[in-house]
Formats: sequence, C-alpha cells, structure tokens
Amino acid sequence: MTTTIGWFDRRRREVFTCPACGWQGLLEAADSELFERSFLLVYRCPPCDGPLAHIPLPDEAEIRRAARRGDAEALEMIQDMERASE
Ligand SMILES: [Zn+2]
Repeated sequence: MTTTIGWFDRRRREVFTCPACGWQGLLEAADSELFERSFLLVYRCPPCDGPLAHIPLPDEAEIRRAARRGDAEALEMIQDMERASE
C-alpha cells in the first residue's frame, strides 16, 4: 500500500521508510515524478524503485488553510499566486 500524504503534511519533510526494501531517507532525496493530469506527485524509492508516497497537489483552499496555520511554504505559494494575478 502506498501512503498518500498531504502536501503540507510534516511527514513530507521527515525520514521515510520504504515498505518494500526498508530504505530510509528524506522524500526530498528520493526520485519524484509529477503527473500533471492527475495533479499527483509520486515519490519512488531510490534503491528499489517502489512507490514511497503519493502527494496530491494542493488546491488554493488547502494552501490558504496551511498558510493560516503559519506554514512557511504555503505563505510563499500565496505570495507567488498574488504576484501572478497582479
Ligand atoms: Zn525500496
């Protein structure tokens, strides 16, 4: 079973264990593939290429919720969106 975690979930920044081979590392260090049509980011395990985690891309409401919690990345994304709409 592949874990689905939210974009702003702190597990995204923590050490992850591959359920198939036991590899441990940060998701940032793993290979990732973006499926733009399904708005999904999929991380793959470097040694065994098994799926580690599915991360659906956040919609605007989710970004705003995370920003209200003080999530630094969400605040940055909102700034980018506001710059883009100027
Ligand atoms: Zn693995």
